[in-house]
Amino acid sequence: MAIAIYPGSFDPITHGHIDIARRARKLFDRMFVAVVANPHKRPYFTLEERVEITQAALVEEGVNGIEVISFDGLLVDCAREHGADAIVRGLRANSDFEYEFQMALTNRDMAPEFESVFFMTAKRFSFLSSSIVKEISMYGGDVSTFVPKSVERALLGKLGHAG
Ligand code: ADP
Repeated sequence: MAIAIYPGSFDPITHGHIDIARRARKLFDRMFVAVVANPHKRPYFTLEERVEITQAALVEEGVNGIEVISFDGLLVDCAREHGADAIVRGLRANSDFEYEFQMALTNRDMAPEFESVFFMTAKRFSFLSSSIVKEISMYGGDVSTFVPKSVERALLGKLGHAG
């Protein structure tokens, strides 16, 4: 049984992430989306909010059979704990490559039993990032083509609290 773990900040999850999760799900028998605590990135949504938003978005988009978990610490420890065989990541422009390359080689040094597997972004999502979505939302822009309705509601809710 092949098990994959797709880690990320998911702050918040976008259609770009969902596309990767949907495609990866087809190749693995069991899949986890792992929301990283990532305190040094100063996340917009709390860890609990990101887990909830991610779960709701996957359900809304009909991506079934994925378990959403959270973790704080080393990815390889989380992967080991969940019996994963592969670490899934998405690749957009060149700018993702260097970071992903470094992470994949570092993870392999620490844990050679995991394979890092990369999914190329869909053309229409190649410029989409959580940061862009947050920025547009903060200035009152329309993010409906970038994120599911449930995420849009969460962004509006956050704005309401901030304002
Ligand atoms: P991290 O902080 O770990 O990079 P992100 O939530 O930003 O967390 O991204 C998680 C993974 O999803 C990364 O591998 C990233 O390259 C990928 N990803 C993010 N947005 C997209 C997108 N629009 N298309 C494809 N992959 C994406």
